[in-house]
Amino acid sequence: MVYRWRCRTCTFSLWAASADAAAEAIRSHLFDHAESNLCRDDLRTVWRCPHCGAQGETYAGDGALESFKSHLFGHVESQIEADAHVVDAVGGTGSVLVLAPIDCDAAANARAHFLSRGDAAVVVTADPAARLRLLDRKLPSWPASTTLVTTAAEPLSGLDVDPPTELAVVTVDGQPDLSGVGETLSRTIQSTEARGALSVEFDILTELVDTFELQTVFRFLHLLSSRLEQAGALAHYYLDPQRVQQASINVLEQVFDLVIRADGAVFTSESVNRSSRTRPSTPS
Ligand SMILES: [Zn+2]
Ligand SMILES: [Zn+2]
Repeated sequence: MVYRWRCRTCTFSLWAASADAAAEAIRSHLFDHAESNLCRDDLRTVWRCPHCGAQGETYAGDGALESFKSHLFGHVESQIEADAHVVDAVGGTGSVLVLAPIDCDAAANARAHFLSRGDAAVVVTADPAARLRLLDRKLPSWPASTTLVTTAAEPLSGLDVDPPTELAVVTVDGQPDLSGVGETLSRTIQSTEARGALSVEFDILTELVDTFELQTVFRFLHLLSSRLEQAGALAHYYLDPQRVQQASINVLEQVFDLVIRADGAVFTSESVNRSSRTRPSTPS
């Protein structure tokens, strides 16, 4: 079960794997909006709700902060939607950028969340064995077909999972030129798209940003996301925000329909970038 909440004050949205995780993240977000309505002095802490004018005060400890957050949460609790999926925010298909360290639990949760939406999975990765293990461990059932597109030199070594459904492995050069990657992917998509809804995981974006000029990566992503959109695919790209400069992230974000940060079991987004879909502006 995934819970969704959308802030009515700003463009923030969150999705969480449990109601408790959602509540905690919502309480923090609401408090960020209302922080100036809480005053502390030496003796006491006082708050006043910006929505209904209710007030509270305590004379010791941090109880006031928690009671203020709980009060704010009470105003929005009924807005939480259950049984949500992140891709509903972009109409079921499109491209989503996931900002998270590549091998953390949060990224694994995001992969499982997005791969559970496809009949056919295409996974572009440098670590095929780890991705197959993840599919095996996290998905309620295997996709009807799984295609690994990998830069690994020996993609079949260390594969200790035997998928019960069709598995194909396609290799691309470990130091590829981007047009080679694009062509390989395009052929893979072409041979896979007849098998039903496509969910495409793209794990190697951080490496591409490390290796190529930003503008080159931007153009590549723009072409690739157009191609995937034609195929009606749901594409999810992973970028490590600790390894890529924020200025570069800001540029690349323009290509995507949605950008989420994955933190544990909570995904957050500042806005749904729907308008970027037709015409991203080229970075200078
Ligand atoms: Zn907000
Ligand atoms: Zn209130």
